[in-house]
Amino acid sequence: APLRRAIAPLAPADRRLVITAQTAQTAQGFGGNPVEVRETDHYAHEYIPSFVEKWDSLIDWEKRAESEGNFFIDLLRKRGVRSVLDVATGTGYHSVQLLQAGFETVSADGSANMLSMAFENGRQHGGHILRVVQADWRWLNRDVHGEYDAIVCLGNSFTHLFDERDRRKALAEFYAMLKHDGILVLDQRNYDAILDDGYSSKHTYYYCGEDVAVAPEYVDDGLCRMRYRFPDESVYHLNMYPLRKDYTRRLMREVGFQRVDTYGDFQHTYRDDQPDFFVHVAEKE
Ligand code: SAM
Repeated sequence: APLRRAIAPLAPADRRLVITAQTAQTAQGFGGNPVEVRETDHYAHEYIPSFVEKWDSLIDWEKRAESEGNFFIDLLRKRGVRSVLDVATGTGYHSVQLLQAGFETVSADGSANMLSMAFENGRQHGGHILRVVQADWRWLNRDVHGEYDAIVCLGNSFTHLFDERDRRKALAEFYAMLKHDGILVLDQRNYDAILDDGYSSKHTYYYCGEDVAVAPEYVDDGLCRMRYRFPDESVYHLNMYPLRKDYTRRLMREVGFQRVDTYGDFQHTYRDDQPDFFVHVAEKE
């Protein structure tokens, strides 16, 4: 199985970029009352190998490229960015796009299962050797070194943090790892629409085609539990904190970012209830 494959030997200078452990868990482990699971640390138990392997059928790379276009690459180029830290690498989609576009890229994630898949994907999509590092955002500076022109945290990842303290800590770690004129690019689902507009907005999202049905199974102010149903009828869940758009923007400003611009489904102008996703671009100075 791809996840069991060893990470290729790293150059001596990169020896610190080593994945420490694989999670051999076979079930997601939400216990008897899944809607009570509201812990930041739980993400590592949610991205189990069988789900990670399916993630790329959920996020089909070609279809994703069609829907995102060059939005992120153009945005980074326009700002003269050269070095990027991808803090939510997942299976590596953005890290590979960034490498292909010529950015110096380091790929971090807290999940060893995800990084392992990302490394394999890098090799298969263009023969890239990803510089991977397993790191939790809350202690990013401990495990990742250097300063970057940009940090990207994409694919609705920040939503995994359940405590405000953890969100502030993670944002402060991102801030500290940026150069003085660096930017943070962070996206999130439009939870305001899900929370405010009642059941009608809780539609099933068909990720990049019809293969995977994604729907909120339970929603309250402190939890959005999403269900992912795959064509083989297997079902997985993710428990996420429903971030309101303005709340995320406020937190970014409170940790020190001077300016936050928010796009709705990659457009600068939008009606708040319409986009499925928001992208925040936060400037350090
Ligand atoms: N960016 C990828 C994409 O768009 O396909 C992956 C998105 S996936 C929804 C969220 C990722 O964030 C997972 O790979 C997970 O391991 C990572 N993650 C969640 N909480 C984290 C934390 N506290 N520290 C580091 N990584 C975390």
